[in-house]
Amino acid sequence: MEEIHKNQQPLFVGSVRDLTERVALDRAKNEFVSTVSHELRTPLTAINGAVGLILGTAGPDLPENVAHLLAVAQRNGDRLLQLINDLLDMEKLLAGKMPLHFETVSVHELVVGSIELLKPMAGQLGKHLVAGISQVPTIRIDPHRFQQALTNLVSNALKYSGDTPDVHVDVVHQDGHVMISVRDQGPGIPESFHEKLFTKFAQVDASNTRQTGGTGLGLAITKQLVEQMGGQIHYRAELPSGTRFDMVFPIADPDAST
Ligand code: ADP
Repeated sequence: MEEIHKNQQPLFVGSVRDLTERVALDRAKNEFVSTVSHELRTPLTAINGAVGLILGTAGPDLPENVAHLLAVAQRNGDRLLQLINDLLDMEKLLAGKMPLHFETVSVHELVVGSIELLKPMAGQLGKHLVAGISQVPTIRIDPHRFQQALTNLVSNALKYSGDTPDVHVDVVHQDGHVMISVRDQGPGIPESFHEKLFTKFAQVDASNTRQTGGTGLGLAITKQLVEQMGGQIHYRAELPSGTRFDMVFPIADPDAST
């Protein structure tokens, strides 16, 4: 409702918009994405499994050009599967249908476990994961989904930190909350991109997707996961350059049952 004045008389202008069609379209689109993703995932998993098996068992005996082609097929198959899994996760999160299994857990162990799993990726990229993890109170989250969120942030820091070698993961307790920070000293994120950071399919440089294997869904999924687990995620620019993401969760209520 807007107020305007005509001949010094106040006039009120209102508009009514029928959103039925838009809502129906949105629903149809989400169902379509979900069906297509499910139908694609099963055969693709089988194809990836077969290619992996051939490379794993007959790899050394294969002619070089055949092994090369199979390796390309495997890389692209993995990328496609990642995209499908991300699309399915996003769809479930937006529909409020992502099943979350809450547990009261020690972040210390979860973060150490995630870092161990990410070390091979860091090694491949010539990076070093530096952990600054203090003992902190427990929080109530879904451990599997928490690791998914942390993995997204750490793998982004590894992928996008240019030539700088270190990616830091810190865990601290402050003001009744546990904060998990992932930071790097890479080129950082341009200011013009900040408001799009957590938007689906947003990428600063979509042209390097082939190189980084990104889908532009990682941060959107991470934000949804963190918020649906009762936490918050914040972006901060590091000085003189670099990126930092903080995930903040309230400490678990000691009286709540595990
Ligand atoms: P992607 O699948 O492309 O990694 P994300 O949603 O995880 O998608 O990230 C969106 C974009 O934000 C990335 O494509 C990248 O441009 C930028 N970005 C994310 N993390 C960092 C970082 N640590 N340093 C620089 N840029 C980053």
